Amino acid sequence: MGISLEQKTVSAMIRVYCRARHPATGRSPCPDCVALEKYAHQRLLQCPFREAKPVCSDCTVHCYSKTMREKIRAVMRFAGPRMILRHPMLAFVHLFRKIISRVR
Ligand SMILES: [Zn+2]
Repeated sequence: MGISLEQKTVSAMIRVYCRARHPATGRSPCPDCVALEKYAHQRLLQCPFREAKPVCSDCTVHCYSKTMREKIRAVMRFAGPRMILRHPMLAFVHLFRKIISRVR
């Protein structure tokens, strides 16, 4: 599982969330969600574990700022179950758990 796949996953989740929660902004995510997406990508790039990231329960790094953590958690809570329904592969579920671990 590479970093870029995680970035794609985060982007997909933000899109699902924005389309449902901020429908007035149309097809592309609203400025707020674009900013959140950029921030999340940046955090993934700067993850000290990189490719060797530990799984959720072992992750000790809380790299999100308080505000951004709350925003991304809202996205995960909303988009997570919907994404898993659409991509019911075990690999995806595992990836999702890894990402979620960072925002706890
Ligand atoms: Zn939005």
